[in-house]
Amino acid sequence: MSKNVWVKLKEFKCPSKHCTSKKPLKWRCAKDDHSVYLSQRGIIKCGSKGDQHRGDLSRWGWNCGSEYHKGKFNRADFEGFTFAVSQAVQLMDKMGSQWVQELMGSIGKQYER
Ligand SMILES: [Zn+2]
Ligand SMILES: [Zn+2]
Repeated sequence: MSKNVWVKLKEFKCPSKHCTSKKPLKWRCAKDDHSVYLSQRGIIKCGSKGDQHRGDLSRWGWNCGSEYHKGKFNRADFEGFTFAVSQAVQLMDKMGSQWVQELMGSIGKQYER
């Protein structure tokens, strides 16, 4: 397994299943307001010390603040997340195609594709 290479999630649209908001956002941890990071191994964490807010992408809760959520946090589905990645052009440019390819493989495994 390769080491986690982290990228800060900014200008990233909400990947929640059924959420229709297309607005790119900078994501923050709901518990402590730290920035949120994603690795190519499909792991999400916030920037707090001690890594207590960390987990598989498929189990992470998202809320972009749109009406759809009604204040709740929703998980992303495979399609919602891959679409959000495809829209995050700057993120893909920054991390490169190999990183993105590994991310897609990791996500596919989490969702058993
Ligand atoms: Zn946190
Ligand atoms: Zn949303």
